[in-house]
Amino acid sequence: MASVTITNVRKSYGHFEVLHGVDVDIRDGEFVILVGPSGCGKSTLLRMIAGLEEISGGDIAIGSKVVNDVAPKERDIAMVFQSYALYPHMTVEANMGFSLRLAQAPKDETKRRVREAAQILGLDHLLDRYPRNLSGGQRQRVAMGRAIVRQPQVFLFDEPLSNLDAKLRVQMRAEIKQLHQRLKTTVVYVTHDQIEAMTMADRIVVMREGYVEQIGSPLDLYDRPANLFVAGFIGSPGMNFIPGTVSESGPFDFIAAGGVRLPLPEPGSAKRGQEAIYGIRPEHLLINQGGIDATVSLIEPTGAETQITALLGPTQIVASVRDRIDVRPGDTISVGFDFGTIHIFDAQTECRL
Ligand code: ADP
Ligand code: MG
Repeated sequence: MASVTITNVRKSYGHFEVLHGVDVDIRDGEFVILVGPSGCGKSTLLRMIAGLEEISGGDIAIGSKVVNDVAPKERDIAMVFQSYALYPHMTVEANMGFSLRLAQAPKDETKRRVREAAQILGLDHLLDRYPRNLSGGQRQRVAMGRAIVRQPQVFLFDEPLSNLDAKLRVQMRAEIKQLHQRLKTTVVYVTHDQIEAMTMADRIVVMREGYVEQIGSPLDLYDRPANLFVAGFIGSPGMNFIPGTVSESGPFDFIAAGGVRLPLPEPGSAKRGQEAIYGIRPEHLLINQGGIDATVSLIEPTGAETQITALLGPTQIVASVRDRIDVRPGDTISVGFDFGTIHIFDAQTECRL
């Protein structure tokens, strides 16, 4: 196991810079997820840790050693990609042992490590099968098995679950998390799926367009998003954003479009008259418990909860309620706000106030 220290790392393709000075400190044994929209530079950063992309600026260290100029196979990492690329003509056992055979590890050692990994992954009864006779989830496990047998310092995963159907994805993400709890090897994991990031990571690195927007534990990001981007990216359905201004005088309120007055918590660093964005998550809106009137436009039950879209003045908001409530489009509901769950962002800088 080892830490991974990424210091002011830049990457350019020709004149086009895609990573603009990224700093991330990954602790020994930590499960860190890089998350962000497609094209933000996650895979590029991961491939730089692996040694598959040259580093245009800055340093990457694994443990205490800067590895900028160290060949991939000398870095003691193992990578699992979205496409598992198993060898079709090799059995599960041969696929899993391939890298050890390549490294000319003793035969019995290879066999022992493959058996061990197969047992951890529940593949022991499939060692003689060929990839074509495996389900998607089993192939995924073989790909992980190939990484595990190498007993690397660091596991690198690039969207390993993207090819699986929704149900299997949920199952595999629990398996990978348990695997990490068992092996305790440092993991750097890339995904565009914020739920995957929230459920699996010790810490999440939110990226956008080659910049790190915020680093924190899943609940840090959920409770205290540093800016509008993170606030909107984490959580589903997404946070409601209501533009407006902080009241000039009188009670310290937020004046939204249409003159709707929303309660503001303690002034914090929000100033009188300031243009701001009022953020509240759908699950934090209190429906029909007093508050401000809104007109329902859409009801979407999911079973466990119901999403209600409504107009608060001219602004559309979404509320998510766990109780079954009897409302229909056109009905008036009351929307209540709890001070503890309100986020205020500067309209210009988009940073949290
Ligand atoms: P992500 O994994 O977050 O979807 P990538 O790291 O694959 O994003 O890509 C980041 C940016 O770098 C994108 O704009 C992509 O087009 C660009 N990029 C990636 N690889 C290359 C390459 N070999 N040559 C030029 N541009 C590239
Ligand atoms: Mg990618």
